[in-house]
Amino acid sequence: MRWAWILVLALPCCGAEPDSPLDPAGCGVVLSPDPELADVTRKWAADWSVALPECDIRLGESGIPVYAAEDLTGADGERRCGQTFNEHRGGTFSRALEVRVDTTPTGDCAGWGYTLGHEIGHALGVHGHVDDETSLLSNIEAGRAYTLDAVSIAFAREQLGLNAPE
Ligand SMILES: [Zn+2]
Repeated sequence: MRWAWILVLALPCCGAEPDSPLDPAGCGVVLSPDPELADVTRKWAADWSVALPECDIRLGESGIPVYAAEDLTGADGERRCGQTFNEHRGGTFSRALEVRVDTTPTGDCAGWGYTLGHEIGHALGVHGHVDDETSLLSNIEAGRAYTLDAVSIAFAREQLGLNAPE
């Protein structure tokens, strides 16, 4: 009988607080962008939230830093439009540590707004890229859409172990 009481009392308590721990699905993320990146970060957080309703994706303090950067290069010495550093434990994604986007992109970079949407996907734990060059999660910068396309959403949901949307 005591259990019944505890359950009833607990039910009304469970709305998400602004700084509550990440959701049980494990795919949530709190993003802490530089001020000049805040509006675009908010746009992509909203888009990703629609695509992945199981994941608690929001902006807040003390979250994953989202930085503006210049002249990003990878370990191979090649230019990068953006970078996301993730922590892995036991060979699997644990959490994102940092997101950087080049806000003065040149060459093959489509523009930092596109890059940011792509990198937030990686920060959610999406690993790798899709073949469709028009998709946000393509590794080819130039053709990317500024929206979260169906191919990217399906890829992300599969990677994150989420069921297909009904
Ligand atoms: Zn990527």
